[in-house]
Amino acid sequence: MTIAIYPGSFDPITNGHLDIVRRASAIFDELILGVYDRPEKRLLFSTEERVKLAREAVSTFKNVRAQAYSGLTVDFARKVGAKVMVRGLRMSSDFEREFEMAMMNKKLAPDLELVCLMASLQYQFLSSSLLKEVAQLGGCLEDMVPVNVANALRKKFAPSP
Ligand code: ADP
Repeated sequence: MTIAIYPGSFDPITNGHLDIVRRASAIFDELILGVYDRPEKRLLFSTEERVKLAREAVSTFKNVRAQAYSGLTVDFARKVGAKVMVRGLRMSSDFEREFEMAMMNKKLAPDLELVCLMASLQYQFLSSSLLKEVAQLGGCLEDMVPVNVANALRKKFAPSP
């Protein structure tokens, strides 16, 4: 039985992430989406909110679950018994950073294999940060995020009474 983790900030989870979840869940027996507690980024959603949104979004996949983690991703992988880490690669933005992290993780945990799935064409330019900007400006999020995330974004950016 092969367990894989799919770690990330997921602030919030998008249809691009979900496309990777769908494809990875068809390859591995179990996929654990790891919501990183304290990324070096300014976040819009709390860890609890990010986990809740991710859990709702992956609820239709029988072999996928979402949980928060803190500390090193390789330690999280070890803790849940994962042999594989999954990441999504967009054409222009991800390669160098992913390569750098992969080399470091290999040094820290030589047994953990990295599997990168190429982002699908329609999600190449979809990022959580860009869509937060669009949401803030009241733009349409159709096809970019699941309904629960669209609602949560609308609520976050609703003008205060
Ligand atoms: P991180 O802070 O670790 O980059 P993200 O939530 O931004 O966390 O992304 C998690 C993973 O999903 C990363 O491997 C990222 O490259 C990938 N990813 C992000 N957006 C997309 C997308 N539109 N299509 C495919 N993969 C994506």
